[in-house]
Amino acid sequence: MAPASYQASTRGDKADKTTYSQTTSSNLSSSKTPVSKLLEGKGDAVFSIRPNDTIDHVVGLLKEKHIGALVVTDQNGMLKGILSERDIVRQLADQADGIMDQSVEALMTSDVVTCTPSDPLTDVLKRMTEGRFRHMPVVTENKLCGIITIGDVVNYRLKEVEYEALRMKQMIVG
Ligand code: AMP
Repeated sequence: MAPASYQASTRGDKADKTTYSQTTSSNLSSSKTPVSKLLEGKGDAVFSIRPNDTIDHVVGLLKEKHIGALVVTDQNGMLKGILSERDIVRQLADQADGIMDQSVEALMTSDVVTCTPSDPLTDVLKRMTEGRFRHMPVVTENKLCGIITIGDVVNYRLKEVEYEALRMKQMIVG
């Protein structure tokens, strides 16, 4: 028998009396987790290059730092572009001759999509998936304050899921 506090809905009940306390998105803690939370663990280091650096310099840096992209900044630290390993591979396929002497400016993407520390991680993940890129510089008050990759977001989310599963298990088992 249903508990006394439970009131089954009747035909007279209004259909629009829906509550959203248990929607899928409200149950995903990551839907509210901001980018800044991820940066707390990762730090704010951003490896950058200049527009007139050579691709030779870039490939050395990508190898040394074990990363897949570098942000391009001017002498004032202003964001000018982003250059990823994909841009280099594309150029290798199109015209490999002399690639090492080419400038960053010639191969970089100038129209950079950025996020802010307060943007929700799910939002950023969606923008990266839709834009088909794996790197997102984080900018606040026109200053670079970090970079996050699709891998960072997925790893962070995996840890959250593991933690949520553990909490649920503790609630059930006690
Ligand atoms: P990625 O998947 O990040 O290695 O980059 C794939 C392509 O997208 C390359 O042409 C990059 O220059 C470009 N790209 C990477 N990150 C961004 C970004 N945040 N905004 C715009 N383009 C980007």
